[in-house]
Amino acid sequence: MSSIQNQKSKRIAIIGSGISGLGSAWLLSEHSPHDVVLYEQNDYIGGHTHTVDYIVPTTKSSANPKSIPVDTGFIVFNPLTYPNLLRFFKYKNIEYMKSEMSFSFSRNNGEFEWSGKNPFSVFAQPKNLLNIDMWKMLYDIFRFNFHATELLNFPDDHPEKQLSDLPQEPVCWSELARSENAEG
Ligand SMILES: Cc1cc2nc3c(=O)[nH]c(=O)nc-3n(C[C@H](O)[C@H](O)[C@H](O)COP(=O)(O)OP(=O)(O)OC[C@H]3O[C@@H](n4cnc5c(N)ncnc54)[C@H](O)[C@@H]3O)c2cc1C
Repeated sequence: MSSIQNQKSKRIAIIGSGISGLGSAWLLSEHSPHDVVLYEQNDYIGGHTHTVDYIVPTTKSSANPKSIPVDTGFIVFNPLTYPNLLRFFKYKNIEYMKSEMSFSFSRNNGEFEWSGKNPFSVFAQPKNLLNIDMWKMLYDIFRFNFHATELLNFPDDHPEKQLSDLPQEPVCWSELARSENAEG
């Protein structure tokens, strides 16, 4: 008899149907002798993994309301960072598809906007070519990427890896992002 069959069956309550709850419920109900009860307070399962329909406001030129499905979380998904999730999907025959991923930003009802797709979308508003804060933000992004990669290559006990020793220069990116009306 295997050790699993020897286990005494218990009733196990799992609170929440996010990926953690669903993963645990699947493992315990299909691969242990225990009885599992899953509790969820929302009227849908999936927790933070959720898609909502955004109804685009109609204008004179587009009178018919258009709906765009928007994923509210759990968007990043790639084989390098998610090997276990990928194995889980394969095991359960859950399909996935390639999709594009980019970041866009809009502030004060479109007064300031950019998207990280390509250099043209970064300067989608040509006036930003003359915006010094925009150039500072781009410099910060490159500076962060450079230092973060450099930091990863240091051994763990290297003094440079102590967060308190990181450069304390003001970060204009966070100043932009902290704006009250920012929507990423
Ligand atoms: C804005 C945002 C973007 C993200 N993007 C990514 C991404 O791109 N890629 C990625 O891998 N991760 C991303 N994450 C992180 C990822 O979404 C979470 O790590 C993951 O969804 C957490 O899963 P979970 O099951 O632990 O919790 P959740 O998905 O939050 O599920 C918890 C569930 O428990 C329920 N619950 C709570 N209390 C009770 C109660 N008392 N009774 C009943 N039910 C209860 C809630 O309603 C909810 O359904 C993002 C997170 C955020 C906030």
